[in-house]
Amino acid sequence: MLVVMNRNATQEEVAAVIKAIETSGYTARPIPGGDRVSIGVLHNRGAVESDRFAGLPGVKDLIPVTRPYKLVSREFKPEDTLIQVGDVSVGNGHLTLMAGPCAVESESQSLTIAEQVRRSGAHIFRGGAFKPRSSPYSFQGLGEEGLKILAKVRETTGMPVVTEVLDLDKFDMVEEYADIVQIGTRNMQNFSLLRRAGHSNRPVLLKRGMSATVQEWLMAAEYILEGGNTQVILCERGIRTFVRHSRNTLDISAVPVVRRETHLPIIVDPSHAAGRRDQVIPLARAAVAADAHGLMVEVHHDPNNALSDGAQSLYPEQFDTLCRHTRSIFEVFRN
Ligand code: PEP
Ligand code: MN
Repeated sequence: MLVVMNRNATQEEVAAVIKAIETSGYTARPIPGGDRVSIGVLHNRGAVESDRFAGLPGVKDLIPVTRPYKLVSREFKPEDTLIQVGDVSVGNGHLTLMAGPCAVESESQSLTIAEQVRRSGAHIFRGGAFKPRSSPYSFQGLGEEGLKILAKVRETTGMPVVTEVLDLDKFDMVEEYADIVQIGTRNMQNFSLLRRAGHSNRPVLLKRGMSATVQEWLMAAEYILEGGNTQVILCERGIRTFVRHSRNTLDISAVPVVRRETHLPIIVDPSHAAGRRDQVIPLARAAVAADAHGLMVEVHHDPNNALSDGAQSLYPEQFDTLCRHTRSIFEVFRN
């Protein structure tokens, strides 16, 4: 349930409502809105006994939250969340482009690609230092050395960096180097990792599990917000279907559904959805037309020799085309 306060409610009135909620055995979570404060009531089993709060001074309305996810739902917070990463904004009114190789392979590889994607208009550099590979014999990433290279990329190009955390015991390390911590598709329901992300002071990029429903995905985001971290960016990256013509199937319809259900920003990763280079630009265009707040795209200057996901990595010239096309589409729909 959500307790909506009057526009002119005093701090004392808000504090008294919070106290009443807590003494009833629930958790109170104030949510500052545009022009009024609302207070979320969490950890209730069954319906909240709302009569206790209805008559308190300063209370305007009591709204039952019908969704299983609370803090991420628009019922709790109608206004879009805007996430600030240095000078870069992610959320409504912005088209944020994240690009880079699948994996950080060397300093020169990362700096070369970073410089190229930055010139085309990328805002954030991506690159994995810890790689979740299907085979234990495949390249697993450079680990901390890769994180140091990412820090060098940030220092050299000014771009913030996003990179994946695979395990709980590496969270502190990844958080220290990354501007955005990524939780990948295979870890979307790794609840200890989600709880740790809830205590992080970094924004979290939460990819959709490859077989997860939108509801399961939003419940995963709820774990992070419940822990206190409200800076979550959702990323649709394709789901497993029966088709053979692409690695996954990009679920474009998830974009408007997520935008309706939650105030959190949603971006699309057409690279892991497609698994092949020739589909990436059309899918990116479709994602922006469907109102995604941004894209995450794999780019490599020498994809034939990439240590992972070369087949889906764009050549830098192709990424330049993608940026031009998607910016144009964004401009058409922004008006
Ligand atoms: C990635 O972005 O590097 C990645 C491994 O993606 P996903 O978790 O979507 O497979
Ligand atoms: Mn990849």
